[in-house]
Amino acid sequence: MRDPLLLTPGPLTTTLATKMAMLNDWGSWDSSFNALTASVCQRLVDLVDGGEDFVCVPLQGSGTFAVEAAIGTLLPRDGKLLVLVNGAYGKRMARLTEVMGRAVSILDFGETSPVDPVRVAARLAADPQITHVGVIHCETSTGILNPLEAIAEVVALAGRRLIIDAMSALGALPLSARETAFDAVIASSNKCLEGVPGMGFVLVRQRSLALAQGNAHSLSLDLHDQWRYLQQTGQWRYTPPTHVVAALASALDQYQAEGGRPARFARYSSNCAALIEGLHGLGLRPFLPAAIQAPIIVTVQAPEHANWQFGEFYQRVKAQGVVLYPGKLTELETFRVGCIGAIGKAEIQMAVDAIARALTEMRIRA
Ligand SMILES: *Cc1c(COP(=O)(O)O)cnc(C)c1O
Repeated sequence: MRDPLLLTPGPLTTTLATKMAMLNDWGSWDSSFNALTASVCQRLVDLVDGGEDFVCVPLQGSGTFAVEAAIGTLLPRDGKLLVLVNGAYGKRMARLTEVMGRAVSILDFGETSPVDPVRVAARLAADPQITHVGVIHCETSTGILNPLEAIAEVVALAGRRLIIDAMSALGALPLSARETAFDAVIASSNKCLEGVPGMGFVLVRQRSLALAQGNAHSLSLDLHDQWRYLQQTGQWRYTPPTHVVAALASALDQYQAEGGRPARFARYSSNCAALIEGLHGLGLRPFLPAAIQAPIIVTVQAPEHANWQFGEFYQRVKAQGVVLYPGKLTELETFRVGCIGAIGKAEIQMAVDAIARALTEMRIRA
């Protein structure tokens, strides 16, 4: 039996080749696994044109572990982080900073607007305590695309350092260290790179990381220590997710073979357009205007109908082999459909058909 289509980024649908890459056992001390780690890290640095200035520090765990490690390591104990919030992932970044006991300030744009760089500049001018700014590239809780370049510009002009959570964007949306000023970009194995879950990584400016020794509040989330150990031994500190790394290496091979970032962006954009068009045909509307919709995940307004119930809808769609995401908005009933993963137009059509049939079964649609 075929696995269900995961339109839930992520985990997301992976290729057979990526799954097959996990059929070997790797010793974590072994030189072949160390070489695999080194090659994956180099290719990840190349994704953002990091050149000699950036290093990749991989970290065990889901993406949030890497966000927590990046903030905890790069933000000095007496530093202050301004988090630009327009959804759940921005809120999470602020919350984890608060939990580790560092100073944090929030600039909230609601759930329906991109970050406004003018307001960021004003806040930075008003609060000289702020040393770092945290931003989410694509806010996955709605699918909003934030104007990263304009934000990076005002942060750099104000002499502050930028930390980007590009978890659901890296590998598909453009981001280059040659064009955008940042200190760190955080992402994970299981989103636009189409690997399996289990590792995050931080692409970090080597000079900033070198200055960050002793900042971390946590032993296992100390990026500086992880980096030093990797440099000295070629090994991960503590047990690496060996199969995940092997799967990511294969996923990166396939990424290159597909044509790299432009090809991936094109495929996701075409998935997103086909999805929105298909949903329109069913009378369903995306929550976001097209201008701020990233081609990563689409938030859909639930039908206004007495029979609507997400739980039942989800089960009926799943019975047809398609797994969706619940909405994450506080004020409006929505559900979400991912455009990313090893899927194309045929799979999007399958999802639209499954949604249509579920709505018919629920007597929401004739
Ligand atoms: C997926 C994601 C994360 C990390 O979530 P995990 O569940 O910890 O993997 C963080 N930020 C954004 C924007 C994401 O899309």
